[in-house]
Amino acid sequence: MTFNTDAIVLKIVKTGESDRLITFLTRDRGVIKAFAGAAERPKNKLHMSTNLFCYGNFTFYENAKTVKTEECDLTETFFGLQKDIETLSLAQYFNELIIETAPRETQANEYMRLLLNSLYFLAEGKKNPRLLKAVFELRLSSIIGYMPSLVACKSCGAFETEPMYFNIETGELFCRDCIQKDAVCCPLEVIAAMRHIVFSELNKLFALQINVGKIPLLTQICEKYLIMSVGKNFKTLDFYKAIAN
Ligand SMILES: [Zn+2]
Repeated sequence: MTFNTDAIVLKIVKTGESDRLITFLTRDRGVIKAFAGAAERPKNKLHMSTNLFCYGNFTFYENAKTVKTEECDLTETFFGLQKDIETLSLAQYFNELIIETAPRETQANEYMRLLLNSLYFLAEGKKNPRLLKAVFELRLSSIIGYMPSLVACKSCGAFETEPMYFNIETGELFCRDCIQKDAVCCPLEVIAAMRHIVFSELNKLFALQINVGKIPLLTQICEKYLIMSVGKNFKTLDFYKAIAN
């Protein structure tokens, strides 16, 4: 059976003499693995279109045993992601998160849109990469079913106080009068940023503005919350942090 879908290359493993086993995120069928025969050869038609982060409309052939990719109408290569090791390693972390969390055998449009937008802004290089990382992590936590309860204080319903307190373990918010001992003290601006990441429409998600001095706390919270949501650590994250620090 042959099928077409928009797809992006998340991971490549060289196999055999010159084949690639590629992990894709596809719009229609989530994460799939497919072989690209002879794609390691420079003259092969899939050589350029099956590099890391390549995005386009791919044609796949599937039989009982394997899936193969046969053609690609390439839309975007995200070449800007290769500009330095820090950018590249953050993009690889995004890919690893998608491989870990996106569904199999079902549509993954929301994951696809989040990833494409994040890679676009990362490649463009105009937005703070740490902010992009925080946005990706917290939005992804929400998509996979761990949306934090950020509407109001869990105890009294207060909408905003300066500061507020966020419990990373439970995803619950508390006001300054209902402080909970395990919660992290957050300036209201950080809570407002988290609300934006969780509640905004995707087309407004990356318009997020925050004082640069508040980014480290936002980054720290979003990372911890994501790790808690997914329940594991990521090698690509350790690598990115080693580079970025
Ligand atoms: Zn309260």
